[in-house]
Amino acid sequence: MSKMAEIFKRIDGYRDDVINIQKELTSRVALSPSNGGTGEHEKTTYVTHLLQDLKPDFIEEVKAPDERAFEGYRPNLLARWDDDPKNRTVWVLSHSDIVPPGDLSLWDSDPFKVRVVGDRIIGRGVEDNQHGFVSSYLGLKAILDAGETLHHSVGLAVVADEETGSAFGLHYVLKNRKDLFQKEDLIIVPDAGNEDGTMIEVAEKSMLWLKCSVTGKQCHASTPQKGRNSLVGAAALILALQELGTLFPGNDNLFSPPHSTFATTKMEANVPNINTIPGKDVFYLDCRILPRYQTEEVLYSCREMADRIGNNRGLKIQWETVQRQEAPEPTPLDSPVVVALARAIKEVTGREAKPMGIGGGTVAAFFRKYGFPAAVWSTSADTAHQPNESCLISDILSDAKVFASVYLRG
Ligand SMILES: [Zn+2]
Repeated sequence: MSKMAEIFKRIDGYRDDVINIQKELTSRVALSPSNGGTGEHEKTTYVTHLLQDLKPDFIEEVKAPDERAFEGYRPNLLARWDDDPKNRTVWVLSHSDIVPPGDLSLWDSDPFKVRVVGDRIIGRGVEDNQHGFVSSYLGLKAILDAGETLHHSVGLAVVADEETGSAFGLHYVLKNRKDLFQKEDLIIVPDAGNEDGTMIEVAEKSMLWLKCSVTGKQCHASTPQKGRNSLVGAAALILALQELGTLFPGNDNLFSPPHSTFATTKMEANVPNINTIPGKDVFYLDCRILPRYQTEEVLYSCREMADRIGNNRGLKIQWETVQRQEAPEPTPLDSPVVVALARAIKEVTGREAKPMGIGGGTVAAFFRKYGFPAAVWSTSADTAHQPNESCLISDILSDAKVFASVYLRG
């Protein structure tokens, strides 16, 4: 049997380990203070023991000060198994924090007690992001248990605060310990994917969230000439905004959908009764913009349309930026991490993986901003953040094989 086949066979025997580790992780509730918790300490301590079992050459807890959290900090754990510290490292980064379970009546059982039904594990956090940690950990364990030597370094990082902005998680780590990473490293973030594991996410669109306030003059509905109807103005502007797609027509097949999107979403309540003409209306616009355009250009067009409609109707229209994230440089399609992942996926599942762009919002964007090419990949049907969150044991084992192959061959 070849070396790789032997390691794959070992991984096939890890079903009980998957269940056991998932059970332990899920019972250690890791909620950020802004989600009503005290941080990720208990879970990170358990992960530290797991990593220490594999005798890393380097292990460090990077503490991000957060006075709201237990002991005043948030724990970020990084460990490395070195063949030679000068060589490049294959890093896999997962996150320890979870989102709250939400309405408990929507769960069929206790979210923090893992339930196993056939191939499926159910519990808060089992998919997001314990799947990523367990598969990357077991892939390495299989290699080390088999007594194989690594041909380059392997690093596992388990960070805090991914669900609430990463200020105390990866963003803090990169701001303070950027030296732990090198441009040549292969960085994989197993925090999103598709059901057959063929999507390697390498790019994001820019994100621009805008709030629009339309102010007119309120009056009785029987005398509309005495007021200026803000709802009609808002409606006219919403229709005009449909033109944004024509003003920014670019197409890039890396992304799905391949064009920028401009969605009018939330509308705040205006007057409580039918016989009043509203004097103020507020709505929101969610823009996901191809990296070739600047968010500033979109904002400029929005202002122009609003001024035109406002002047025609005697309304004051104001834009406010709620969130704005310029897309970082995409990870090149031929970068070593994309090539290595695609090769390993083909070896393990026989499938052709494809680099893709998404609408925005993964933690990999922080790596890209700092100039580290990172790829987001895992095999998962998306149940993250939902009641009865679940994942498949067979997906975790298959992903562990892909990681093992990347660790050994790069
Ligand atoms: Zn996640």
